[in-house]
Amino acid sequence: MELPNAGYRQQVIDVLRDLVRIDTTNPPGNEVEAARYLAALLSPAGIETCVLESAPGRGNLLARLRGSGEGKPLMLMGHLDVVPANPSEWRYPPFAAEIHEGFLWGRGSTDTKNLIAVWAVAMLALAHLKPPLKRDIILAATADEERGGTLGIAWLIQQRPELLGVACALNEGGGGAIKVGERLFYTCQSAEKGLCRTVWTARAKGGHASHPRQDLSTFKLARALSRLGDGYVAGRAIGTMRRALNLIASSQSGQTAEQVERLLDQGHIEEALRVAGFDEKGIENSRPLFYDTASPTGLRAGDPASINVIPVTATAYVDGRILPGQTREGFVQLLRDLAEEEVEIEVYQGQYAPGLESSVDTPIFRTISQVIAERCGGVIVVPWTCAGATDARHLIPLGVPVYGFVPEKPLPEGLEEAGAHADNERLWLDNLIFCLEVLYDVIYRFCTQA
Ligand SMILES: [Zn+2]
Repeated sequence: MELPNAGYRQQVIDVLRDLVRIDTTNPPGNEVEAARYLAALLSPAGIETCVLESAPGRGNLLARLRGSGEGKPLMLMGHLDVVPANPSEWRYPPFAAEIHEGFLWGRGSTDTKNLIAVWAVAMLALAHLKPPLKRDIILAATADEERGGTLGIAWLIQQRPELLGVACALNEGGGGAIKVGERLFYTCQSAEKGLCRTVWTARAKGGHASHPRQDLSTFKLARALSRLGDGYVAGRAIGTMRRALNLIASSQSGQTAEQVERLLDQGHIEEALRVAGFDEKGIENSRPLFYDTASPTGLRAGDPASINVIPVTATAYVDGRILPGQTREGFVQLLRDLAEEEVEIEVYQGQYAPGLESSVDTPIFRTISQVIAERCGGVIVVPWTCAGATDARHLIPLGVPVYGFVPEKPLPEGLEEAGAHADNERLWLDNLIFCLEVLYDVIYRFCTQA
């Protein structure tokens, strides 16, 4: 379904510029101003809105466009807060929303004020057109995602537990185009890795540095860490990535798909990617999506002022990222088995969160796939995994499937974007329009065909 009026293309740019100009740097956040802006934009069109403050200044917007209620609601989500920006590192001021060479420059222009502008304008278009909606459309534009979502989506679903009754939620992440061989695919984020951070401690008798020994705490720790190899500690294809590779390989031939399947069964991940058509760079980029990983990011032992003293303890801090299905106990045991040495390995300050996966055998995933196939000459949408985390982590464990899909065409040769958290963050405006057109179509179809 096409947008009912070309004016919405201009409006989505205007709304995004307005949102970027409201400084919602977290901390402190001050998202309430952006939430109130959206409420004022949406309520005159007959959309029910409510601004809820989780703490002073920490505003969350809930907006609802009513349907007949035949189907469960669709939730559209995004976060209003942004990470800090240091103006001295920027070519144009980070909160001015200037447009240069077809790009909108500003903090939040890709993460996720663009998505919120798209949701708001799509809802306005539907409110004016009044198609027979079979389900409600709920917008949750929340605070605090960049610092864990405690004052945002996590708080909101405690206040409004009925939000958990939605059919599914559309979110940030995903939607990027990947090229495999000569073919283009769009990714839809349906899984996220979890994390399990650990602290490793090696102990030994102290002593004088003139008499080294095999069992120095520093040697023990170094030997243990070296057994992590390149940090890719356990590989496996979760359902999401197995499906993705199957779709990619099947687009070449049934035989290729079978071969890829076999290689995955045997645990030959890199070879499976190669046969599916990924080049070396593509394989490197995708590897974290197939492995539990462990990166030693901090080391502590001794003191340069006491260079002649053997330290009693040596400690390493290891950031672990785990696939859906891996557990805290399973991952720690895996590290202990790998380390072999006498090092104690414990979870660091309780920093554990499981990886999460949503099924893609769902009407919304099929709708997204149909819309892209029709609009982009048969391009296939593949489910994908995020190596980091989004607010989806607060919803998936409570039974709400979440899909990250912010469709983005590949940039023409010579143009350069800067994405989430980067200095000079900027969005190619053609992609903002593309995103609006695609997501409007997705929402329209999903909500009129319940
Ligand atoms: Zn972010």
